[in-house]
Amino acid sequence: MDTGTRACCALPDCPWCGRDDLACHYCGGSGWWRPEMPVQDGDGMITWRRVGEECRMCAGTGKEHLHVAVG
Ligand SMILES: [Zn+2]
Ligand SMILES: [Zn+2]
Repeated sequence: MDTGTRACCALPDCPWCGRDDLACHYCGGSGWWRPEMPVQDGDGMITWRRVGEECRMCAGTGKEHLHVAVG
């Protein structure tokens, strides 16, 4: 399973990717978001399936990316 983090997000010269003292509070620094999604089976039973996707808040870098408005 690929659980690595990206070295940098899509922004060139991103100031957040350049520092490693802050972990993304959203994914805890793992760079991955693992929510449990409810899945309804044929009998109407709700089961929970864990899904994994790249953390959107830090673009998978695991580094805090506070989206502060510039200016
Ligand atoms: Zn970045
Ligand atoms: Zn994150």
